[in-house]
Amino acid sequence: AGAVVIIGAGHAGYQLAASLRQHGFSERIALVNDEGHLPYQRPPLSKAYLKGTGGPDSLMFRPEKFYHDQNIELISDRAVSIDRAARKVALGSGASLDYGHLVLATGARNRLLDIPNANLDSVRYLRTLDESQSLRDYITAGQRVVVIGAGFIGLEFAATARAKGLEVDVVELAPRVMARAVTAEISQFFQSRHTAAGIRIHLGVQVTSIESDGHKVTGVSLSDGRHLKADLIVVGVGVLPNVELAAQAGLPVGSGIIVNEHLLTADPNISAIGDCALYESPRFGGSLRLESVQNATDHARCVAARLTGDAKPYDGVPWFWSDQGPDKLQMVGLTTGYDRVVVRGDRAAGAFSAFCYSDGRLVGIESVNRAGDHMFGRRLFAAGGSITPEQAADTGFDLKSALT
Ligand code: FAD
Repeated sequence: AGAVVIIGAGHAGYQLAASLRQHGFSERIALVNDEGHLPYQRPPLSKAYLKGTGGPDSLMFRPEKFYHDQNIELISDRAVSIDRAARKVALGSGASLDYGHLVLATGARNRLLDIPNANLDSVRYLRTLDESQSLRDYITAGQRVVVIGAGFIGLEFAATARAKGLEVDVVELAPRVMARAVTAEISQFFQSRHTAAGIRIHLGVQVTSIESDGHKVTGVSLSDGRHLKADLIVVGVGVLPNVELAAQAGLPVGSGIIVNEHLLTADPNISAIGDCALYESPRFGGSLRLESVQNATDHARCVAARLTGDAKPYDGVPWFWSDQGPDKLQMVGLTTGYDRVVVRGDRAAGAFSAFCYSDGRLVGIESVNRAGDHMFGRRLFAAGGSITPEQAADTGFDLKSALT
């Protein structure tokens, strides 16, 4: 087998290194980390951490001692190229690493805004600990922030900023919030909750330019001719998977690094996992690229098992969460391509789930403040089950009875 070299020490890369040792892998593990921190968790960056809870240590998966004790070499460097014939990775420092198996866990990076003045210091993004830290230090009550993009990160940031007393405007091109990811039922609920908290949401419009006084941001212009004042702009318009290293090495890439159902690239000595991987899914009958902690960690576990002699196709059940203000959204399954939505629970009371059906079969559940429905979905989908729309809508129907 030989050494396993992992490029990227995010959720996927860290989990792979840890799981390999758990599975008894005894050869060299090199984890190449291009961020100036021990491997850390991203979700709190737009939630508790941004709010001011805890120091950087609270984000770390493990203290430094863990890597030492587990004999995981954490290499502070950046992979710059792969020589597949020689099985070598070249690093930015000039050093190189030999691999038996190489795993690309390079994640994704912010999609940058391409409009005038987007390079000003008060135009910010939110992906890394450094970005979250500098936003956390920067935001204070009374500032005016314009959030571009009403996706998960934009809305999580907006809710946190509002709770800290900022004036918040959110600008979104789509006709509803989180339009690409959730059903209209969920969009409507969160839109009204954020509006009630004092966040102004502008839908169906785009920011066309950013105004400045020469140094600082003063506001933005919208595509409908309006202007919004701003001291700060936070951009959450999605991410781009980091595929360049793979592409330069001649590996097939599309909207991610292309891997099969075992998460192997076209080169049998190279896998790709997490946000960067576009994988073949027998479960869903197509290729998928997901951006979630579940996807990153389950991919890692699947590859760790394969590299220690227990190869199985990847078959994780997708799930995700987003905390926005006091509300918790949880999703399980794939809520795209549904043709019918059934609501369970009480929308007005702020605790309900949207059960999504395709051809009469349950394909996903989106829950707001109903953790039980979410956990039910994770167990049901893992077992390959379904319930009828009538059962889903009837709160008198005991979900647990569908699990046996
Ligand atoms: P990443 O975490 O992006 O890690 C990739 C790492 O590889 C990075 O450190 C990168 O710098 C490094 N790298 C890239 N290229 C190289 C190279 N050439 N050499 C060395 N290193 C390299 N998901 C949820 O499920 N729930 C949530 O609530 C949630 N909240 C989120 C909030 C925020 C603010 C963000 C940014 C993400 C959130 N996510 C959430 C998504 C989740 O964090 C990602 O899906 C997850 O981090 C993906 O893990 P990954 O290891 O594939 O990629």
